[in-house]
Parts: sequence; C-alpha cells; structure tokens
Amino acid sequence: MQKGSRQTDDWSIMDKNRCSCNDCQDLKVFLQARNLQQKTWPLNKQRRMHIHQTIEAMHLPVTHETQRTGSPHKLILKKTRQLFIEDKKRYKAISKAIKQLSDSGLLTKEPSVF
Ligand SMILES: [Zn+2]
Repeated sequence: MQKGSRQTDDWSIMDKNRCSCNDCQDLKVFLQARNLQQKTWPLNKQRRMHIHQTIEAMHLPVTHETQRTGSPHKLILKKTRQLFIEDKKRYKAISKAIKQLSDSGLLTKEPSVF
C-alpha cells in the first residue's frame, strides 16, 4: 500500500514460489524483473511440465506456451496485462477499506500515504 498503485512499466511479480529448484529460481528472476515481459526458455519436456504446473499452481498472470521448434522445445512465458488489472483492483479495495475506517472514526487521522 505504501508503494501505491503499480507503475505502468513495472512488470515485477513478487509472488512466492514454494519450490526452490534451479528452474524455479530462473522463473523467479524472470517474474521479479520489472523490465522483462517475456521469456523464451529452451527446456526439455519434464522441466517444461514442472514450470507449467508451477505457474498454474501460483495463479500467475503469465501465459506459458510451448513453441515446438528446435531441440529442446522452447517454453514461452509472457506476463499479461491482467497483472495491472489485478493490482488496480487490490489498490482500490485497500483504499476503500481505509476510507471506510476513517469515515467511521476508527482512524483518528488519515494515513500519511494520502
Ligand atoms: Zn521447481
């Protein structure tokens, strides 16, 4: 909340991944990079499956498609605009909650971020 709403060029995703294998570390680097929107990642089938499942399990705003060219095939990861939509929704919900609190007199003063 203190950071306010996401900047339009900020593509970083800070969600936690419970797996700590090397591929998930690479995935994390990509997710957290605020200037990276897409990753082309040559991976064998087994490792691709793992990343597919990890992204599904984390409900990330990231598409993950296999490009069936070359050897090994490539996994194409793309962060989607949903990232910004979700972020705005969250920001609005928090702002509203704080306003309701202050309107009801439960907050004695406005939070400094406003
Ligand atoms: Zn992993």
